[in-house]
Amino acid sequence: MSAENEPQTLLAKGPAPDPPGADAEATPQLLPVIQKASDHPCFDCSRCCRYVAVEIDKPSTMKEYDHLYWYLYHGGISVFIDWEGDWFIQFETKCDHLTAQGMCGIYERRPAICKDFDWRECEQNVKEEAAEKHLFRNADDFTRWFEEKRPKAFHRYQRFLRKRHASGEDPELERLDNGAPRKKKKRKAGK
Ligand code: SF4
Ligand code: SF4
Repeated sequence: MSAENEPQTLLAKGPAPDPPGADAEATPQLLPVIQKASDHPCFDCSRCCRYVAVEIDKPSTMKEYDHLYWYLYHGGISVFIDWEGDWFIQFETKCDHLTAQGMCGIYERRPAICKDFDWRECEQNVKEEAAEKHLFRNADDFTRWFEEKRPKAFHRYQRFLRKRHASGEDPELERLDNGAPRKKKKRKAGK
């Protein structure tokens, strides 16, 4: 059995809660799941190992709005604006190292971003407010926000899209759509 597949049920995904009177700095980052699992907020949750969120530019150009639609037409992708007004794209994708038991299979060499993630500030544990100010699960969600919050840009984008489509499609794509090559106009001799 590889080290990653060993049943490391004594290793938790995050730091253990401090025992009463313990020095937080000295608390080992190991959670005795067998004894304490049901006490810990991370028990039975592995949400933070099941997505990747990457900051993106705030959209302001037609191209950037267009890209947002492109992202949101894909399943498993959402976009959100956090409480600081920063924009993120989020991919629903499970980490390869998340074990069937919901543990980190590479706990002692996991990326620093995972190590630094503090479960105490995790949105799953801070229930008073949503993790994001606006969440767009799909293009319809975004359209509603876009039309309401940025009406001028919304109408400009509609014009942008109409103009781009009015310019016609690539003849090669038309050929594929129709299943037959487009006929070229024959020129009369002498013309
Ligand atoms: S840190 Fe948050 S998302 Fe991650 S396992 Fe714990 S409760 Fe779940
Ligand atoms: S490396 Fe470990 S802690 Fe980081 S996302 Fe993967 S399973 Fe979770």
